[in-house]
Amino acid sequence: MTFAAVIVAGGAGARAGQGPAKQWRVLAGKPVLRWSVEALLAAGAAELVVVIPAGETDQAAAALRGLEGWTLTPGGATRARSVQAGLAALASPGENPVLVHDAARPFVGRRHVAALLTALADADGAVPALPVSDTLKRGAPDEGVSTVSRDGLWRAQTPQAFRLDGLRRAYAQWPADSEPTDDAGVVERAGGRVVLAAGDPLLMKLTYPEDFAMAEALAGAARLTRVGQGFDAHRWGPGEAVWLCGVRIDHDQTLIGHSDADAGLHAVTDALLGAVGEGDIGDHFPPTDPRWKGAASDQFLRHAADLARARGGVIVNVDVTLICERPKIKPHRQAMRARLAEILDLPLDRVSVKATTTEGMGFPGRGEGLAAQAVVAVQTPA
Ligand code: MG
Repeated sequence: MTFAAVIVAGGAGARAGQGPAKQWRVLAGKPVLRWSVEALLAAGAAELVVVIPAGETDQAAAALRGLEGWTLTPGGATRARSVQAGLAALASPGENPVLVHDAARPFVGRRHVAALLTALADADGAVPALPVSDTLKRGAPDEGVSTVSRDGLWRAQTPQAFRLDGLRRAYAQWPADSEPTDDAGVVERAGGRVVLAAGDPLLMKLTYPEDFAMAEALAGAARLTRVGQGFDAHRWGPGEAVWLCGVRIDHDQTLIGHSDADAGLHAVTDALLGAVGEGDIGDHFPPTDPRWKGAASDQFLRHAADLARARGGVIVNVDVTLICERPKIKPHRQAMRARLAEILDLPLDRVSVKATTTEGMGFPGRGEGLAAQAVVAVQTPA
């Protein structure tokens, strides 16, 4: 279902302790803001506005580098003003759903979005909420306390889902001298019907310094590891050098193909495309297209890596096996690893290049051609 999204990343986060504002802090390898943006884009947001503090465009652009489909808008003095700025910046049709989300809840996922959009079908707002499980006390330290009934009490989380024009109208009616604590409260006050959807402990909010340690521990649960495999083969023909895994090797033959016939890079490219469900190398670079005649294959792999990263993918590791009798691969293995790491912008220890013969059997064994196979693991939003 088509929906728009507003991510509020405007707070100073005074309770989260020293250092940069929490939306720019790195959590399990990525800025906090990037987690939500990647997840909502992966969940299908047609339009996504990120509301940031005025003057922090550079931090936001750095945090979201490589992602497509988001815009920035400066926030206001309060969360409510920031949400309104975000709503005003959306160009989506007013009857469309809008999700309003706090950047400080990094682990939103596709399933949360789906549940909210379903719940919104017969309501004016839908909120993920968890029942209160701890006993509630009213009082102060060193003073007497009393117990508050937790019957019917819920902890509201974000994202919260509304119709865009309904939420805009509700905000227009909100009194200027008070501050809502969430967007559902604004719609409730305007007479809208807000329903509860299933909340999730993963939608935790980063508020205090100790929350970051908890979030680091939970980060794995908010990611999916996907594995893709690739296979390629090219025929030997007359020549004086061969390209393998982006490295030129002097040889008494060359591999025949439309591009530079680098079977190693082609196998890795297919594995990476497979891991993110993006078809195969021929879909993106048809061999019938004269643009790719003699082309250097590193651009194919770089394109696949860009596609993966645009979907929030983090390449975990690459493992490629070259299958041939000649040339000898071992003297070139480290150069191939280094070249793959460079093309994919990965640390060297995430890249492996191996080689084997087939002991004279089959087409590689008979010297008719060279084959390559590769496996790539990519972590994506769950
Ligand atoms: Mg090929």
